[in-house]
Amino acid sequence: MRNAPQCAPFTLTTIGYVESDYPDKFGIPRQPGLAPAADAVLALVPPYNDPLTVRGLEDFSHLWVSFIFHQSPERWTPLVRPPRLGGNRKVGVFASRSTHRPNRLGLSLVKLAGIETRHGVRLKLEGCDLVSGTPVVDIKPYLPWAEAHPEARAGFAPQVPDLLPISFSQSALDTLAARADSATLHALITQVLGQDPRPAYKRGEESERVYGVRLRDVDVKFCALQNDEATTLNVVAIDVATEECAQLRPGK
Ligand code: SAH
Repeated sequence: MRNAPQCAPFTLTTIGYVESDYPDKFGIPRQPGLAPAADAVLALVPPYNDPLTVRGLEDFSHLWVSFIFHQSPERWTPLVRPPRLGGNRKVGVFASRSTHRPNRLGLSLVKLAGIETRHGVRLKLEGCDLVSGTPVVDIKPYLPWAEAHPEARAGFAPQVPDLLPISFSQSALDTLAARADSATLHALITQVLGQDPRPAYKRGEESERVYGVRLRDVDVKFCALQNDEATTLNVVAIDVATEECAQLRPGK
């Protein structure tokens, strides 16, 4: 075998940061577009925040965003357990969209909802799957004629995941009704919880267990209701987020 070519390590620089509806990782849908109500801004940083860098981008509806999974550890393993396989079957890291991967590079196709260039450059994004604070390393316009392949085989993730029905307690509805963003927050909660953010190994146990997902400035507390084989996630309360709420999340 010929020697592998040697190349110096690459250095990437952050071109901007995401500010999103997701203050933390738990609960974020596993791909973009699954929660279209999730708003985000990608704020470019100097010297990339020159309006010239995005000239012409307004004519594209969707973007590829390359980013770093900065909240993932640098360590990785050749096999991973995708949540889509119930967390108990392994596939190769490069056969997955795992966040634990060499170089920690992520790639999301997101909708571009607008561009502001009055103070630097701020791109408004819809439906992104990124935690607030995610560093972005590149942006490219999406070319549907080259990149859309609806007939493509998609291995262990062949179609959009099933959604769980979501119900709201009266107190959660009252909290929502009092907010200026009630309609979009209601949609965001329904879309995020519909993906069933509970860890795979917890499903079916502890039905009275209360989980918390942070969205915008609130902590959404929910539990699973089981009846006739069907599971509904019930929003029990919507509280202003505090550190104490954070302890209800798995892994904390
Ligand atoms: N579309 C991307 C991301 C898929 S994984 C890709 O395929 O590369 C999506 C998960 O990444 C989300 O559920 C969220 O929990 C996690 N995530 C989002 N931003 C992250 C970050 N900055 N660091 C680590 N994990 C992140």
